[in-house]
Formats: sequence, C-alpha cells, structure tokens
Amino acid sequence: MAYRAPVDEFQYIFDHVVEFDQVAKTDLFAEATPDMTSAILSEAGRMCSEVLSPLQRNGDLHPAVLENGVVRTSPGFAEGYRAIAEGGWIGISASAESGGMGLPMTLTTAVNEMMAGACLALQLNPLMSQGQIEALEHHASEEIKAIYLPKLISGEWCGTMNLTESQAGSDVGALRSKAESNGDGTFAVTGQKIYISWADNDFSANVCHLVLARLPDGAAGTKGISLFMVPKYIPDTDGEPGVANSLSVVSLEHKLGLHGSPTAVMQFDGATGWLVGEPHQGMKAMFTMMNNARLGVGGQGIGSAEGAYQQALGYALERKQGSTPVEGGGTIADHADVRRMLTTMKAEVFAARSIALSCAVAIDMARATGDSDWLARAALITPIAKAHGTDIGNEVAHMGVQVHGGMGFIEETGAAQFSRDVRVTAIYEGTNGIQAMDLVARKLMDGGDAAFRLLEEVEMAAEAERELFPNMSEALWSAAETLRETTEWLVSQEDLNERFAGAVPYLRAFARVLGAHFHLKAAKAEGGSGPRTHLARFYIKRLLPEYAAQLTHVREGARGLYALSLDELGA
Ligand SMILES: Cc1cc2nc3c(=O)[nH]c(=O)nc-3n(C[C@H](O)[C@H](O)[C@H](O)COP(=O)(O)OP(=O)(O)OC[C@H]3O[C@@H](n4cnc5c(N)ncnc54)[C@H](O)[C@@H]3O)c2cc1C
Repeated sequence: MAYRAPVDEFQYIFDHVVEFDQVAKTDLFAEATPDMTSAILSEAGRMCSEVLSPLQRNGDLHPAVLENGVVRTSPGFAEGYRAIAEGGWIGISASAESGGMGLPMTLTTAVNEMMAGACLALQLNPLMSQGQIEALEHHASEEIKAIYLPKLISGEWCGTMNLTESQAGSDVGALRSKAESNGDGTFAVTGQKIYISWADNDFSANVCHLVLARLPDGAAGTKGISLFMVPKYIPDTDGEPGVANSLSVVSLEHKLGLHGSPTAVMQFDGATGWLVGEPHQGMKAMFTMMNNARLGVGGQGIGSAEGAYQQALGYALERKQGSTPVEGGGTIADHADVRRMLTTMKAEVFAARSIALSCAVAIDMARATGDSDWLARAALITPIAKAHGTDIGNEVAHMGVQVHGGMGFIEETGAAQFSRDVRVTAIYEGTNGIQAMDLVARKLMDGGDAAFRLLEEVEMAAEAERELFPNMSEALWSAAETLRETTEWLVSQEDLNERFAGAVPYLRAFARVLGAHFHLKAAKAEGGSGPRTHLARFYIKRLLPEYAAQLTHVREGARGLYALSLDELGA
C-alpha cells in the first residue's frame, strides 16, 4: 500500500503540541513563517508519497549489489535520490552561506521522518550526508568547508560515517585504524571498517568518508582518536573529483532487512585524508554527527511505524472475518482486539513523533538563543527520541504484521518488510541499551537538573488541566512525580552499574510520561472532546501505566541481575 505523508498531523503537532511558534519567533529562524513551514511540509510530503514510496519494495526485492568493486543501487533509487537532492531536502537546516536553507531542525526532523516512512533504505543516504554536513560546519577548516559543504548540501556528493571495526562496535575506543602524516598537511589513513552504510553508490559524483583513526601519538581509548575526511575521489585544484583514493568496498553484508541500503566492509590502504577538527578530538567532532544522526534515526523508527500503521489500517479495512460487535461493521477493523492494535499503533506514533519534534525544538531554541537550559533539554531528550522512536518503530511494525494475520507473514503485502527494515534502527547509531546508559549517566551528570526542570513542566501542565480532564491529569501528575522520585534515587547511586541495570526501563518510563504529556496537550487543543481526546485517554489509561512496572524494575538495581551465575544461565 502506498505511503501517504501525514502532513496535517505534523502541522497539528507543530501548532499545538511542541510550540514551534517560539522557534519561528527567534531572529535566527525568522524565515520559518507559518506559510513557509506548511509549504515545506506539503511539498516534501508530496515527494515522499509520489516519488519515494513506490521505491520501497524495489529496495527489498532488488538489493544493492557489488559488481567489480562498484555498488549498483536498487532500481529507481538514483531517480529517487535526485528528487531528494533537487528538492533541497538534504540541506534544509544547513547554513545558507554553504547553499543550505538555514531552516530549523524541527522541519528537517519532520521531512526526514516522512522520507523514512516512504523508503527507509534510500532515506538513510541523505541522513548520513546531513550528519556529515553538521560535523563539518562545526569542526572543519574553512578550506574543507569550501570544498565539501556546497557539494554535500546540493547532493552532488554523498557523506558516510566510518566508526565501526570488527573489535570496536559499541566500544569505539578500541579502534585500530591508523593515520600518519604525509608531511604535506594530509594523512595516510589505513584500516578496515565494517557495516558502513551507503559506503558507495552509482548516483553521486563522489563519496566522502568521515573516518575515525588514531595518530601515532594518540592515547589509547576514545581520547586518542582523530577524525579524517577521506574522499573516494581526491578533489583536484578546482574542487572537482580527481584521482581515485586508496580505498575500496571489500564486500556488502547480507542483512535481515534494509536491503536497498548497501552496508559495506571498507578497506583504507594509506588513503589520503584531511584532519577534521583538532588532533585527538575526533570523538567530539563525531559526536556532532552522531547527535544529529541519533535524532534522525529516531525519526526513521517513527516513519517506519507510520508506514506500518497505514499498511495495517488499509488491510484491516478490507479484510472480512467473522461477525463483529459493530452494527454495519464487517471487516476485522471492528474486532475489539484489532481495534486495540490499531489504536495502540496510532497512539504510539503520535507520542514518539511529538517527543522527537520536541527534541528538535529544543535543539533549535538552543541554537537560536544560546541558552544553556535549552541545550541541556536537547541533550536530555536526544537518547529518548532515538531509543523510544526506534523501539516504537519495531513494536508498531511487529503489530502491523499481526493485524494482517497470515498475510503479514507473506512478503507481498509489504508488512513484513517494515518489520525487517526497521529492526536495525534500534541497533545502529548506538544500540538502544547504550542510549539508555547515556540517559542515566551523562545526562544526569547535572544532578538531574535538566530532568527535574522538564518534569516540573509536565506536572504544571497536568495541574493546569485538572478541571478539563480530572482523571487524565491526575494519572499524568502521579506518573511524573514517581518518575521524579526515581530520578532522585538514580542520581544518588554512585555505582554507575546500579543506574545501568535499570537504564532501559527508566528511558521507557520517561518516554511514557512525555508521551502522555503531549497527548494531553493535543486533547486540550481540540477543546476537550474529539478524536485527539479519545486517543489521549487511550494512551493515558492503557499505555502510560506501564511506567510503574518499569520504575519498579529501575529501583531493583543491579544485584538481582547477577544473582543467576553464567553457569546457571546455561553457560
Ligand atoms: C545495517 C547496519 C548499518 C550500520 N551503519 C554503520 C555506519 O554507517 N557507520 C558505522 O560506523 N557503523 C555502522 N553500523 C554499526 C553499528 O553502529 C554497530 O553495529 C552498533 O554500534 C553496535 O556495535 P556492535 O555491532 O559491535 O555490537 P556490540 O557492541 O558487540 O554490542 C552487542 C550487545 O552488547 C551490548 N553492549 C555493548 N557494550 C555494552 C556496554 N558497555 N554496556 C552495556 N551493554 C553493552 C549492546 O547494547 C548489544 O546489545 C551499522 C550496523 C548495521 C547492522
């Protein structure tokens, strides 16, 4: 079933849930007027529905292949990529001086989610370039910026991210790739990287690899890592692709899903690279790229969930089985259990999407105002947006298969593809376990200040709705209060492993509270009765209560997790 971009839904969330108007009121983003915003959403939405969505199955049925060292992409992907590039959708938030639109990250987040819902495998390509653009804008020399930024923003060239090595996955600090000075300002980069997304393609004139490697005097661990720009073709004096660099795509992985996105083993054999940022500060620069990509990957989960929901709803409205309790009803959509699944899917997508967009608003406000509270807010929500967005992507896609019954297991419906494709989003860009550990460790290093400020806002908003929605308001207030108490408990745990043991359940509970908060805002905006209020009630009565079980889990700490020895686990 073709994907329909949920443009009206984005508009509603912008206007009534995440207060996008405060971003548009800043000097930096004065161009993001309501007219401009709605034109961007509609235009991007049209491209996603009409151009990208038909490519989704192509990627699955005709995966990218490696032929004589060159990647051949799935049918139609080159045209789809051109539509993305020509629409200017890669550089929405890139600086205007380098050819971008200089618009808020909130808009990029919405557009990226729509592109992901339409064709996840292809969308991963511009997502990588966007992360690279942001890293270069912040950390590269003026020379590098001048050569690479305009071409990455226009889409003439693509960007990749090269961190992972076979012994260095979550533990990036264990990497062994090396870089040695050539004595002329360039470096020779040597090493093998694995799982590199979109490491090559047959539609861009160059592929620009940002590679993490260690200089000879680099310390062990993450502190000794530097970042290098290593292009497939070395730019000539005019900045055009020149001689081929000493690098190659060794092989492509056979994957569970996301077949349209080539995932490569890359070999760098003394390839010419340029240092990006200061020596040994590579992780700092790469973090810029990863932070951008984390929110983007969260959006990939949400976009996939939206696609899976639309697919399941479409099927449920046609499939007839048995008699239903609804008069005049006749399709499986009228069975109580199918309604439960469909409503859960819709409620989850709304909540996860609002969390991601609220994160983007915080990023924009931090950029526009320089206010450290906004910066801390963005940092706090980023791991939640990534992990929860992708968890929901997986859960909703899984439920989508269930709604289809047997047809969900049959590939031709496309329901299974959503489930297979989205699986990796919970793994790459830092596994969701690592995201949760970031939340309970680094993001609580301020003694929980940013978390407490956010929870206070949630409690105040809940208080304000006591008259209109007494039950929902009470349920949300209590959940936020229990989360606040558990956050205090976490902050008081000096042994980080006590925090890590409950990191994933804590992140889930936090997402539940934020999701309920945003649902309540949406209900309020429609005046307290109507479909958004029904959806908010569903979420708050049936999905929010999960927070209590999750927080009980958090307070159990680490010890119980080691009670069973590895022998007793069956080692
Ligand atoms: C399709 C695909 C595309 C990818 N694209 C890219 C790319 O473009 N560029 C790139 O550099 N990488 C890429 N990756 C790599 C990806 O980021 C890693 O797979 C991911 O970070 C996890 O590393 P790992 O696979 O080595 O798993 P491991 O690190 O071995 O993790 C295995 C398990 O252990 C857990 N774990 C590990 N360390 C800890 C810890 N300290 N505490 C608690 N739990 C822990 C993990 O959460 C996970 O559950 C891609 C991977 C895939 C599959």
